[in-house]
Amino acid sequence: MSKVIVLTGAGGVLCSTLSKALAKEGHKIAVLDLRIDAANKVAEEIKKDGGIAIGVASNVLDKDSLIQAKNEVNEQLGSCDILINGAGGNHPLGTTSNSHLLEEDLLNVEEGFKTFFDLDPKGIEFVFNLNFIGTLLPTQVFAKDMVGKKGCSVLNISSMNAFTPLTKIPAYSGAKAAVSNFTKWLAVHFSKVGIRVNALAPGFFLTDQNRALLTTEDGALTARGNTIIEQTPMGKFGEPEDLIATTLWLCGEGASFVTGVVVPIDGGFSAFSGV
Ligand code: NAD
Repeated sequence: MSKVIVLTGAGGVLCSTLSKALAKEGHKIAVLDLRIDAANKVAEEIKKDGGIAIGVASNVLDKDSLIQAKNEVNEQLGSCDILINGAGGNHPLGTTSNSHLLEEDLLNVEEGFKTFFDLDPKGIEFVFNLNFIGTLLPTQVFAKDMVGKKGCSVLNISSMNAFTPLTKIPAYSGAKAAVSNFTKWLAVHFSKVGIRVNALAPGFFLTDQNRALLTTEDGALTARGNTIIEQTPMGKFGEPEDLIATTLWLCGEGASFVTGVVVPIDGGFSAFSGV
């Protein structure tokens, strides 16, 4: 059955792929993004392929902007059945330069060099807001449409670092742990009104937000990129298409008794101890 599916951050790499895959299944897609050009481009591509989609400008951190987006979705596509909270990401101000603190680091005056002690609260706040508040606010706005309807669900996007934090990115790791925790909390909270809540935990996908951390300008792997590949039993980064089948499953009737799960899609990364 055709559903109205709203995806935030859907002008980005992963959720544009999911938008197109869901449109191919016959669903009506609202492509939300802060960058309206990116959202419109994805919507146009879906329409060119025979699907139904609209691009909508929306900031996941601004409730008024989300309410405006919801009005637009309701008018053009109908009431929302499924919400995919895809907007998220890291920020350099919430990232340390090195994995471990060494005594001599306190004497390092190189421009841009950051230890834990230099992390800027504004950077930490940006990352927590974008990933956690940016999941909570759209859910407050769009899940109201789902109460009392059949076949509705919310799908959040967590990450590997929610299970065990990755070095250098304490804010992003903590914020995604909050997204996983919230997924379970909300699954329980919504359990009596027919809304299932689950999350994907993608492993490592080469996208704009992590390209500089994982590859050099000439496309070779950085030391961190190499470490990730070594720790991924399948020995490669994921492709955005690797998220499609799990998304279709969690958003479909086949998962009608599945709520509160965070599914790793990681080539075995989270199962491997490194030895
Ligand atoms: P991306 O940067 O390609 O896409 C993110 C999109 O969110 C962008 O289009 C951006 O414009 C939009 N956005 C940013 N701030 C926004 C705001 N305030 N309001 C609305 N939209 C906003 O990233 P991606 O790799 O496609 O990531 C999608 C999700 O998957 C994110 O939550 C990310 O944290 C998560 N994730 C990614 C990876 C990976 O390896 N790429 C791994 C695990 C989890």
